[in-house]
Amino acid sequence: MPQSPETAADIAAIGPLIAAQRAAFARQPRRPLADRRADLLAIERLVLDNEAAIADAIDADFGGRSRDETRLVEIAVTAQAARNARRHLGRWMAPRTVATPPMASPGRSRIRHEPKGVVGIVSPWNYPVQLTLVPLVAALAAGCRALIKPSELTPRTSALMATLLAEHFPTDQVAVVTGGADVAEAFCAHRFDHLFYTGSTRVGRSVAEAAARHLSPVTLELGGKSPVIVDADVPLERIAHPIAWGRFLNAGQTCVAPDYVLATGGRAVALGQAVIRQAGQFYPDVGTNDDYTAVVSDRHYARLNAMIEEARHRGVEVLQAPHDAAAAARTRRIPPTVLIDPPLDLAVMREEIFGPLLPVLSTTSIETACAHVNAGERPLALYVFSDDRRVVDQVLDATHSGGVTINATMLHLTNENLPFGGVGESGSGAYHGRRGFEEFSHARSVFEAGRWHASRLIAPPYGSLFRMIAGLALKA
Ligand code: NAD
Repeated sequence: MPQSPETAADIAAIGPLIAAQRAAFARQPRRPLADRRADLLAIERLVLDNEAAIADAIDADFGGRSRDETRLVEIAVTAQAARNARRHLGRWMAPRTVATPPMASPGRSRIRHEPKGVVGIVSPWNYPVQLTLVPLVAALAAGCRALIKPSELTPRTSALMATLLAEHFPTDQVAVVTGGADVAEAFCAHRFDHLFYTGSTRVGRSVAEAAARHLSPVTLELGGKSPVIVDADVPLERIAHPIAWGRFLNAGQTCVAPDYVLATGGRAVALGQAVIRQAGQFYPDVGTNDDYTAVVSDRHYARLNAMIEEARHRGVEVLQAPHDAAAAARTRRIPPTVLIDPPLDLAVMREEIFGPLLPVLSTTSIETACAHVNAGERPLALYVFSDDRRVVDQVLDATHSGGVTINATMLHLTNENLPFGGVGESGSGAYHGRRGFEEFSHARSVFEAGRWHASRLIAPPYGSLFRMIAGLALKA
């Protein structure tokens, strides 16, 4: 397709913005602590002072996004990340002294965390503010300058973030480039000192390739199928609540949402029914319920309905809470849906669902559940429900995932003290809290030799003293 003049202009703006940020970074390569704290306070104020406008924009972009969920998952999460970084930044920035081995003694060894420079942040639509501004918090805490490319699927929110960030920061410190996939592709082709990408695994692969051309480090926050493993004797009503909450929040459009359940003990049907009962209590009238979020686009709506249709066609038992189908369709909402034991070749079991559909599969044991997980790609999150510590440890030891929550869903993500990121196809690198500061920092090794130094003894011509020292070094 030929490029529109707007797209060409958006693409043409990227290079000069990066150049301006590079020049500003060269003028001030070490942004002082007080300035970084002010930057973080600005992000906190930006979300708190503009909550209504942000909620309006996301609501319009989704065609219905719960304002309460926006308050929690966009405003509060972002403000909390900024506040946490502001509080702890002095300690994170302080050079860390480490031990010096005898061969290098006497001397002092320390690690300085220095800003990487000008970084790129590419963000998705599903939590458009959180997934843009929390990486920005980490970049600003580290003293970097950032160019941001938010998602084209949430254009009002992206435009609002561009306006608000321009009110708080000069463009040679923080700038936003908007536009579609071609703008994003051109963006990632530029040289950044770090590229931070959140989105699908498919696009993440091409982002990694683009960054590799410049040997730029990348963080890839990707997706995947996050499983829930349920032990046989945990009461169903106790697990239905957190599973339904995790799956149907934001209508399932959450990277760490439970994607499917592996139920031991012959309880797949009973568990599926309990989840649907719980969902019915959360969202009594799906079509008109302000607490229940719409599917973001017609394309995703069609994709999810096709998954349900395919399952029905193959004779899968499909459970849905009572709802007014016409009202739901008018507002692009898909009712919470459980699919019992779908065959593994269906789209709903091959692809990340990213919507309010939950397959519940029967499995014979914890071992077979772990084997199922290990037969697929390493997921972003894994959930296990069990009252037996040994079962929990068995699952932890036998599987891989970016993160884990035990006896609940998604909560590991809310702790700023835990690194958040994927593994394998669900991503690489991590952020949140100190880990985010480190992701955008270069850990620079500094060794300061004492005035008299042992290197004098390990230089040629090599004699008996050298051999004695080398012998000691072999054993040290
Ligand atoms: P999306 O379509 O909004 O894309 C994300 C970003 O990638 C956008 O800014 C887009 O412009 C850009 N993009 C598109 N094509 C590109 C290209 N060729 N090169 C560079 N950038 C390009 O979002 P999406 O991909 O639909 O997001 C959903 C996926 O993201 C799911 O798989 C989900 O699991 C994952 N996700 C992961 C996390 C996480 O933290 N790990 C968080 C949210 C979403």
